[in-house]
Amino acid sequence: MIALVLVEHDGAVVKDATLATVTAAAQLGEVHALVAGEGVGAVAQAAAKIAGVTKVHVADGAAFGHQLAENVAPVAAALVRDHCDYFVAPATTTGKNIAPRVAALLDVMQISDILSVEGPDTFTRPIYAGNAIATVKSSDAKKVITVRGTAFARASAEGGSGSVESVSGSDAGLSSFVGAELSKSERPELTSAKIIVSGGRAFGSSEQFHALLDPLADKLKAGVGASRAAVDAGYAPNDYQVGQTGKIVAPEVYIAIGISGAIQHLAGMKDSKTIIAINKDEDAPIYQVADIGLVGDLFKIVPELTEKL
Ligand code: FAD
Repeated sequence: MIALVLVEHDGAVVKDATLATVTAAAQLGEVHALVAGEGVGAVAQAAAKIAGVTKVHVADGAAFGHQLAENVAPVAAALVRDHCDYFVAPATTTGKNIAPRVAALLDVMQISDILSVEGPDTFTRPIYAGNAIATVKSSDAKKVITVRGTAFARASAEGGSGSVESVSGSDAGLSSFVGAELSKSERPELTSAKIIVSGGRAFGSSEQFHALLDPLADKLKAGVGASRAAVDAGYAPNDYQVGQTGKIVAPEVYIAIGISGAIQHLAGMKDSKTIIAINKDEDAPIYQVADIGLVGDLFKIVPELTEKL
């Protein structure tokens, strides 16, 4: 059995989500990787070094410059159709953009957001915002799978010695790149941060959100997250959102401040190793998952905590 892993990268560096995906794929069979982009020779070499990867297929050219899903999916589908049994992608924005297209081109069901591999055709995945775990069995000959990165350990980025081969592909002419506005931050990216401080509606304004959380995050070298209520109210940008419709994170420490703990928020962070909650309501649902709780007013506690660190 051969599993083709979609390598997620930014044109220069392989993203961590790829490493967890390789671990999942290795439980299915031999691991091949697909790198699509323009001028991505270095990324392909890095992918070939990931422990467990035996072959890297590189689609390098202008058509793949911005990794448009409409152009990448046909290349992946052709590789899977001719050489592989599985297409395995991280359940990230990029993976979730490409994998369904691959599934449609192969005319198979997508198996989304798997938490474990139970056998060659059997997987577990969360349903009802993570409140139940379904075991799904697929009878499709080719399987298209997305992987929840927090459920699998990361494969080592070093130690592999895969071969590198070029694959061809063309511009499907279905989409074109217009522009990208990327948020720049010195802080660690949420899905790879070891510590996350996350703020909710209780902050009351964007100014208070940043005035209180940014110094705390700086001291802890933490990433900053937010509840959807905080994002919807404009306190924090969209890419800060943690939860069912935001990012799924599992850092060593997650500090939820002024966040009630709605199930949709818990769905994104309840696998964190240690959860610390700061909330003035001692009955807030966040305390049901918290390992450490501080009941009180965040406007007093957060500056005090920041000062003492
Ligand atoms: P609130 O629920 O209003 O909680 C604020 C908390 O702050 C309260 O517990 C309160 O006691 C506390 N507080 C107030 N003042 C202070 C103070 N001075 N000091 C200390 N504590 C204080 N939400 C997400 O977060 N992520 C998602 O991905 C997400 N996806 C969703 C998808 C769907 C389909 C739906 C329907 C909802 C989704 N939600 C999501 C929204 C979710 O249901 C909640 O509405 C949201 O998480 C609430 O955010 P909050 O905890 O910041 O606000």
